[in-house]
Amino acid sequence: MTRVRIGVIGGGVAGLAAAYELEKVRAAGQQIEYMVYEACPQLGGSLASEIVDGSVLELGADSFLTEKPAAAELCRELGLGGELVPSNDAARKTFVVVKNRLVPLPDGLMFLVPTKLVPTALTRLFSLRTKIRMGLELLHPPRAAEGDESIAALVVRHYGEEALDRLADPLLSGIYGGDAAELSARTVLPRLVEMEKSYGSLTRGMLAAHKKMRAAAKKSATGAKRKAPPIFTALRGGAQQLVDALAARLDPASICVATPVNAIERNSSGWNVHARGTVQEFDGLIIAAPAWAAGGLLTPVDRELGQELSAIPYSSSITMNLVYDERSIGRLPDGFGFLVPASEGRAMLACTFVHRKFLGRTAPGKAVLRAFLGGARHEELLAQGDEALAAIVRREMSEILGAKTLSASVEPEHLRVARWRRGMAQYAVGHRERMERIASRQAALPSLRLVGNAYDGVGIPDCIRLGRKAARELAAIEVKASSGVSA
Ligand SMILES: Cc1cc2nc3c(=O)[nH]c(=O)nc-3n(C[C@H](O)[C@H](O)[C@H](O)COP(=O)(O)OP(=O)(O)OC[C@H]3O[C@@H](n4cnc5c(N)ncnc54)[C@H](O)[C@@H]3O)c2cc1C
Repeated sequence: MTRVRIGVIGGGVAGLAAAYELEKVRAAGQQIEYMVYEACPQLGGSLASEIVDGSVLELGADSFLTEKPAAAELCRELGLGGELVPSNDAARKTFVVVKNRLVPLPDGLMFLVPTKLVPTALTRLFSLRTKIRMGLELLHPPRAAEGDESIAALVVRHYGEEALDRLADPLLSGIYGGDAAELSARTVLPRLVEMEKSYGSLTRGMLAAHKKMRAAAKKSATGAKRKAPPIFTALRGGAQQLVDALAARLDPASICVATPVNAIERNSSGWNVHARGTVQEFDGLIIAAPAWAAGGLLTPVDRELGQELSAIPYSSSITMNLVYDERSIGRLPDGFGFLVPASEGRAMLACTFVHRKFLGRTAPGKAVLRAFLGGARHEELLAQGDEALAAIVRREMSEILGAKTLSASVEPEHLRVARWRRGMAQYAVGHRERMERIASRQAALPSLRLVGNAYDGVGIPDCIRLGRKAARELAAIEVKASSGVSA
């Protein structure tokens, strides 16, 4: 049996998770080798954190959804179980900026859907007209048309323009750096699309789902009341801990950083990978680089596949961490932070009060504010220097929070800007059909796997799940083939 060689292009969390799985297969005694190529000098892709005077600063992703188990499972497997930190949900309150004032999101919102009458009726977030529309939504008929549509179209049809502007759009640009007018309802919010089909009204659908969930929880309860899991989970030392723990499990000779792959081609039994003036041969290939990079590499191999991949849109974003001495600022509003609707005409999309969202990751006496900028509508901000961006953010924060709370003249102790160019895939209308076309082209290339945030979930858990699954599948196929058994 000959040794199987698998190349992994991209050392973000998807590529590292794939390599980790290959390393496990190798350690279990299979004749397998792998090589990870990462274009940047460091591994991790959109996961990167720094610890400054005892405070964790997340430059990219800061946490993952607890309900998607792949990330926490991997952390536990890597011995990081004790490092998992739950979000401080007791203090969970998010504000929306409306005409320069902070208005809390009303209680009872589930996936953009209002489910509680009194908080919806009393909130200052919506006008009376929108509230009446939200009430009448209970009578909404199922959608007549089939086919995908944008999230904006879905929300406006049910709750009107104001709900789009003040609720759906800021929530989505805060999560995806995306634009509700472009994002696919069917891919990003499949549950809502299903609910509309069954109930017409999203509110009725959500209430019914909630009722079912409560009944199921009651049935499975064993007497003692189980604590609800936290919404988000983070790592005590930052997302970098996961990157470092994964890298530590890999064979150092199998990792090439600062090594962008410039070209790939098929050979008689697999793939040639060109990077830094060398060519290496592999039996199987996992491309864990963003789809725009995968598209560029694959176009000479299969033009149609390359073009489909290159057509997946991405948005860019900027994070800015500002560390303040709590004594130098006033009391921040109680909550996790705020979202800024596009109609406010600001550069900032959102701001997290990091020291409130996760306890124990910020030095005592310090406040860490993390601003999020850019997104699909403000790509031009990426060209601005740190100082210009800092001036914008400090002015906007002061105008939103009030000069008494945070005057623009108060100097942060630390300020760290990170730019993420084309870092976040956007699941545009028609994404599912594009995925079907990609899968059918890929079927002709069984020794190739595509993983990362462009395909089946943008979050860290999805990228980990896809990376590990691809590695397991490809290793099994190639090992079988090398031992002469047809797959
Ligand atoms: C600012 C920001 C905040 C986020 N916040 C969260 C969050 O809180 N929670 C969450 O779950 N998700 C979050 N996400 C999303 C999540 O972090 C990403 O979807 C995920 O990390 C993507 O991992 P990946 O491995 O697919 O891609 P990436 O992290 O983009 O990694 C791809 C790697 O491929 C490399 N590469 C590209 N071309 C080549 C080439 N030719 N040769 C070799 N290497 C190449 C790149 O340098 C990069 O390192 C956030 C994303 C961003 C940008």
